[in-house]
Amino acid sequence: MNLSKSEKIMEKAKNFLPAGVNSPVRAFRAVGGTPPFIVKGKGSKIWDLDYNQYIDFVGSWGPLILGHSYEPVLKAVSDTMQYGLSFGAPTALEVEMAEKIVSIVPNIDMVRMVNSGTEAVMSAIRLARGATGKAKIIKFAGCYHGHSDSMLVNAGSGALTQGEPDSAGVTKGAAEDTLTAEYNDLDSVRKLFDLNTNEIAAVIVEPVAANMGVVPPADGFLEGLRKLCDENNALLIFDEVITGFRLALGGAQEFFGVRADIVTFGKIIGGGMPVGAYGASKELMQNIAPLGSVYQAGTLSGNPVAMAAGLKQLEILEQNPQYYTEINEKAKFIANNLRESSKKHDIVMTVNQCGGLVCPYFTSENVTSFSATQKSNLEQFKCYFHGMLEHGIYIAPSQFEAMFINVSHSKDDINALCSAADEVLGTL
Ligand SMILES: *Cc1c(COP(=O)(O)O)cnc(C)c1O
Repeated sequence: MNLSKSEKIMEKAKNFLPAGVNSPVRAFRAVGGTPPFIVKGKGSKIWDLDYNQYIDFVGSWGPLILGHSYEPVLKAVSDTMQYGLSFGAPTALEVEMAEKIVSIVPNIDMVRMVNSGTEAVMSAIRLARGATGKAKIIKFAGCYHGHSDSMLVNAGSGALTQGEPDSAGVTKGAAEDTLTAEYNDLDSVRKLFDLNTNEIAAVIVEPVAANMGVVPPADGFLEGLRKLCDENNALLIFDEVITGFRLALGGAQEFFGVRADIVTFGKIIGGGMPVGAYGASKELMQNIAPLGSVYQAGTLSGNPVAMAAGLKQLEILEQNPQYYTEINEKAKFIANNLRESSKKHDIVMTVNQCGGLVCPYFTSENVTSFSATQKSNLEQFKCYFHGMLEHGIYIAPSQFEAMFINVSHSKDDINALCSAADEVLGTL
């Protein structure tokens, strides 16, 4: 049998990395087959070890909103690294980065830089608990907030129940203060507040749920969360690891006009480097060590090379407000085309889109909840995924991930995606 280079290296990888990968979804378990090992990216394209070219609609899961190997970002990185890779001491770039984030994002006065979205959320939760003196957190089924213990809680449909760990190795103790409500269902949140009077420190939400595909907030949902939090003296945390600097420059707070108390960032904020951040009002951030008693630290946090990449990308986004309109229009165009193709080929499909996030579900249901996302025909998704890959279109290897539209996608790229989808849907 003639193995491709990706298949050969995957065989080796499996000896040294669990399932051959450093993050589970990359292993292609949901769709089968061997993932292409990527060697290079430029603009909207990536290439694998076997010289296959793909138009990339993942963009490293969102961070590369300007596309791959964007010259000014690469230059900022290479200029900065000439002076050294890390000091574990203050550098001016961190201050510039913090000032930039605070000037862009509504309702935050201060930030703390960390190294991933997981870390940002984990720290934001600790801050919420420390500042309120309360223990319980409400999250939503189907929302992903990184892999810290207290956030790995039954993301299934066991709403309104006490937290059940979602992963082996998470103790009942670590999970029991995490309560699960239903996304887009304010009553489920109200019930939890009523059952846990004065015990809820915070509600954490992905303002657009983008880890169960793409589920936008229903009219009034985010506003309702704001109100419930205010009525119950709880903090509202927007996990903007995906939506930040994507829906709009100022993220979901700007896009939907709803204020959050704590905001978490990752992905885009690092321009492709491992960066996260959380921010809040001065009053809340004064709880963070060494000013206050909520401890949080990081040897490589604020790393100058990572700051240089993220800062440059943010500056470019800030200088080009038209990018957001363009991304939104491209995403709308794709969503409409997918809908038309599915009708044409008699494929049952519902396409959700919000800003530069798109997700086709293989179901006739209106996908506004976690339970509706679970109705999608996953066998059909598998065929769709592999068909697209064969047509040189790289999308996330799971139904429950978004398609990330970015600045680098040209008209030709978008048309290539749409015609590939049309052909593939015709074969399902
Ligand atoms: C990706 C993601 C995280 C986790 O970020 P990592 O950098 O992978 O640790 C947290 N929250 C949301 C909404 C995410 O999409």
